[in-house]
Amino acid sequence: MIPLRVRTLNTVSKFTFAATIGATVITGDAMAQQAAPTPGSAKAIFGAATLPTQGPPQSIGFYAKGCLSGAVALPADGPTWQAMRLSRNRRWGRPEMIALLERLSRDAAKYDGWPGILVGDISQPRGGPMFNGHASHQIGLDADVWLTPMPARPLSTAERESLPFTSMLEKNKFLTVDDKVWTESRARLLMRAASYPEVERIFVNPAIKKKMCETWTGDRTNLGKLRPEYGHDSHFHIRIKCPAGSANCKPQPPVAAGDGCGKTLAWWFTPEPWAKPKPSEKPPVKPREVMVSDLPKACQAVLNAPSVASAGVATFGAKAAAATPATSTLPVSSTGAGNTPPGSIPQQ
Ligand SMILES: [Zn+2]
Repeated sequence: MIPLRVRTLNTVSKFTFAATIGATVITGDAMAQQAAPTPGSAKAIFGAATLPTQGPPQSIGFYAKGCLSGAVALPADGPTWQAMRLSRNRRWGRPEMIALLERLSRDAAKYDGWPGILVGDISQPRGGPMFNGHASHQIGLDADVWLTPMPARPLSTAERESLPFTSMLEKNKFLTVDDKVWTESRARLLMRAASYPEVERIFVNPAIKKKMCETWTGDRTNLGKLRPEYGHDSHFHIRIKCPAGSANCKPQPPVAAGDGCGKTLAWWFTPEPWAKPKPSEKPPVKPREVMVSDLPKACQAVLNAPSVASAGVATFGAKAAAATPATSTLPVSSTGAGNTPPGSIPQQ
């Protein structure tokens, strides 16, 4: 009896610890922090690029090992979105990714009771590894969207830097969604994002996936695209397929059929994914820093290529806006082309 009780307590404390880590441990995503990039590393070099290359968009390599040419920026503001943490200069992506974000924001506002999206990191101007925050996001086909609704007014630049993340998890509980924070509109937003054919995966915390498995009563065809992952409790991560004609983009196999609510999800609720290495085990060898030469060859050419003249000319919709005669209204079409004049942020 006593040993059992002790074991239970141990398990509970381990799981409580795990719950904390579940939200904050290095996740291959927004939580991983490094004080500064190692000089000469791919992270340092790609992180120093302030503008994208000229020319057509190309995703080169894999989501977690590659680079991006011809990137375009998500406008910092739109009628149904605001880009966050502007100082990071990571609102660059393939036009297909930017168009998808704009479309999601519009659809969510129109159909899902979600007033608009706050967009986190997409990619750096020339993609490549980032010195903090992510293993992927390297080829312009990954984007983070906050699980916090867009406020009814445009946030100031300072607010966009400092607005805290809101976790969907209960503090001090193991992988449990906080029902005081979670809403059906968030579930609808996730399934809206999963509904687009070009979206291949959406990474969410295992607790959020579980919540969706237990509560989503609509069409479950796309539920399998929601993939449980460490972190991702205050934002979700959208990954789209290599766009057609992207010869240099290395695709990822599609997710397995089914809703993903079975065994793979159950594994996250065992101690295994949260186990710390035993003291007897050697600490894992720190992987060698990734150098530009480790990336696809074409990435060196991406670094050497001439820049566009300014971020403005490479902002998504800028060409369409420039081509529009001054007398007509700016296009805000279903393709996402068109800059939206400031001041048109709708009230919630
Ligand atoms: Zn992400």
